[in-house]
Amino acid sequence: MRATVMYGAGDVRVERVPDARLVEPTDAVVAVTRACICGSDLWPYQSMDRSETGRRMGHEFIGTVEDVGAEVRTVKKGDHVVAPFAWSDGTCEFCRQGLQTSCIHGGFWGGEIDGGQGEAVRVPLADGTLVPLPVGPDHALLPSLLTLSDVMGTGHHAARAAKVGPGKIVAVVGDGAVGLCGVVASRRLGAERIILLGRHADRIALAREFGATEIVSARGEAGIERVLELTGGLGAHSVLECVGHGASTETALRIARPGGAVGRVGVPQEPAIPAATPTFFRNVTIAGGPAPARAYIEELLPDVLEGRIQPGRVFDRVTDLDGVPDGYRAMNAREAIKVMVAF
Ligand SMILES: [Zn+2]
Repeated sequence: MRATVMYGAGDVRVERVPDARLVEPTDAVVAVTRACICGSDLWPYQSMDRSETGRRMGHEFIGTVEDVGAEVRTVKKGDHVVAPFAWSDGTCEFCRQGLQTSCIHGGFWGGEIDGGQGEAVRVPLADGTLVPLPVGPDHALLPSLLTLSDVMGTGHHAARAAKVGPGKIVAVVGDGAVGLCGVVASRRLGAERIILLGRHADRIALAREFGATEIVSARGEAGIERVLELTGGLGAHSVLECVGHGASTETALRIARPGGAVGRVGVPQEPAIPAATPTFFRNVTIAGGPAPARAYIEELLPDVLEGRIQPGRVFDRVTDLDGVPDGYRAMNAREAIKVMVAF
């Protein structure tokens, strides 16, 4: 089969790799129908050290079950399924708490094993991991369903961690696909105002359609001052940090009001959390981490199927597998918000 392999910064190739196949009786093999490129795939695209063996890429996919192991019970051959960005058994202490990204037996796609940006994937622990979809591979809702693999669940996780709810003033730091899904999630959870911190015109326009009420395009101290101005000097109740840089994290922490909460879902690119002293004296809650997307699929699925949310609008470019390397280039150059791969 063919799949995407990254060999170093800027070096993404589509190559022949061993076919995905059943190894354990709890596995399934899924033929991918839709996948996508993630903002977090751009971190290695910008900085990965050269590797002789390469690293398989992609952690977001929808596909058709081609084969299941003898112990698989909840999915069968022919089912159309969505996979979250981590696999999990669904039965351990952390899965039962709804924190499947900490599954004791779980793991993450790509690296030395199959990734989503390929023709097929061996799915470990298929019963705990895969969720059957009530729609087939040509359905118009596939882009929005695909966001349940990661970005919509991640935006929702940021909103939950930041305690978004009715009457709250929310600030979303970052206008990438996750930030935009954070706007969708905040509106869905009843936020009264949603301030987006971002500076790309196309993304801002979509954020407004998703429910952002105010936009702050200034960065650093000027951006912080502007959010404080917009909130009567108090700051936001709930802040969603959807980037992961030190500067964006500092902004997020400093615009949270006393007693407020910051939900961090941008993968931290620096070892320390900034603004320790001011957040301490303001009793700001700092929460978040990798979203248990598996837990949120069932919660968000009805809203997608019934058209109440349309997070799939973050995809502004579609390619086939051969176009994946150029998709990385386009996202890295900010020519595309998020690239979908159709097989
Ligand atoms: Zn588990």
